[in-house]
Amino acid sequence: GTKSYSFMLRTKNPCGKVSNKLYLVMDDLADQFGIGTLRLTTRQTFQLHGVLKKDLKTVMSAIIKSMGSTLGACGDLNRNVLAPAAPFKRKDYLFAQETAENIAALLTPQSGFYYDMWVDGEKVMSAEPPEVVKARNDNSHCTNFPDSPEPIYGTQFLPRKFKIAVTVAKDNSVDLFTNDIGVVVVSDADGEPQGFNIYVGGGMGRTHRLESTFPLLAEPLGYVPKEDILYAVKAIVVTQRENGRRDDRKYSRMKYLISSWGIEKFRSVVEQYYGKKFEPCHELPEWNFESYLGWHQQGDGRLFCGLHVDSGRVKGVMKKILREIIEKYHLNVRITPNQNIILCDIRQAWKRPITTALAQGGLLQPRLIDPLNVTAMACPALPLCPLAITEAERGIPDILKRIRAIFERVGLRYKESVVIRITGCPNGCARPYMAELGLVGDGPNSYQIWLGGTPNQTVLAKLFKDKVKIQDLEKVLEPLFYHWKRQRLPKESFGEFTNRLGNEKLLELVDKWEGV
Ligand code: SF4
Repeated sequence: GTKSYSFMLRTKNPCGKVSNKLYLVMDDLADQFGIGTLRLTTRQTFQLHGVLKKDLKTVMSAIIKSMGSTLGACGDLNRNVLAPAAPFKRKDYLFAQETAENIAALLTPQSGFYYDMWVDGEKVMSAEPPEVVKARNDNSHCTNFPDSPEPIYGTQFLPRKFKIAVTVAKDNSVDLFTNDIGVVVVSDADGEPQGFNIYVGGGMGRTHRLESTFPLLAEPLGYVPKEDILYAVKAIVVTQRENGRRDDRKYSRMKYLISSWGIEKFRSVVEQYYGKKFEPCHELPEWNFESYLGWHQQGDGRLFCGLHVDSGRVKGVMKKILREIIEKYHLNVRITPNQNIILCDIRQAWKRPITTALAQGGLLQPRLIDPLNVTAMACPALPLCPLAITEAERGIPDILKRIRAIFERVGLRYKESVVIRITGCPNGCARPYMAELGLVGDGPNSYQIWLGGTPNQTVLAKLFKDKVKIQDLEKVLEPLFYHWKRQRLPKESFGEFTNRLGNEKLLELVDKWEGV
């Protein structure tokens, strides 16, 4: 018989913002044309799995007409721009979100082909802010800007996908340093945004058994005054467009350009397109991971409520209850970079009935969610992703239960937390190389173990062991957690502990292990 091809479709939602209307449309589409579930992703978007080719046009036009978009969610161009999902009405948060939206608009391909194809040429785009249009087309500050009909992408787009995150000082809910460009709002003493620190060259993807491929953290490029940010981003993107490797996709992310040139040369080439020198990055306070779970004040009299979603999979009773609440109270929602969801703009008077409804769906009962689960992430992997070597989303519930059992055996308390991330292949969509414990599929039922990321996502993990069979996880993890419990310094996280001891010492502990 003929095979009916099924597609995965990803939306584009800068800052993870999802209007009430778009949420309801996505929820319907998942039932009508997908597999009945909605998947929240690590880039603050929806993924709809299992859409049949014959239904693609119907689904795409429904999304576009509710002001969603899929344009640029895949392919060799800028992907969804991350920003803190919390709807705080604070100047710096609002400015970070506005900047993320402007960057997303700046880097949207200009060809009308997309709309011609999916909505028969009907124009459904909202108007772009004039400063975005100006920044896209204005090259007057630079004499050698390459001329091109697509002003930023040129005729051949970028060598590879491109990722950008924007945030505010302290809030690393966006995993800033894993992006090609990380942008941080810098405010003055009164909380008034003045400019941005820019970091460049982060990226997770690698290839097994090829040491010339590696995950990398973004490093400081420099500071720009706030009015220059779009010009600076454009200069960086064009530097990668003109110089990134196109001969081998394994080496085409911007991190490889920067690691081969060094940051000094990279900076001076970007400055030629930017038309100015970068100032040194401003000193910033320590980073924290923010989950935004539970109830919070937005700062405008309304409330928001962050809800944990296991592996970002909205299904079953949870899907039904969420829809009812979102529909009844006309709520807008946000998707977080940790695959969770935030219900926004809630009036004080709605808090009680919403709490009751959430409780009926088994949501919003923190004690039922294992603390290990709150920071854990897994990518979709088998059976949904063609690159997957092992299980991730389907395997993580059992793996977390086994790790909880190890915690109990070695005497670690329930509230103790470790950031655990699992992916089905080295591409690293759930950012496993930033985890305190990262598992990366590397063969049938086997994983690489990566150790040494930190709870605030600022340190890169290191490869600890290859080809650990799934049934042998305890043999490796039990001694590590046992010694962490006994030898840790005050408040030392598991990641800091494994970094302090180093691989050689840790391997020795694992080899000598004879059980609790
Ligand atoms: Fe697929 Fe690999 Fe990404 Fe997982 S990490 S979703 S297996 S490409």
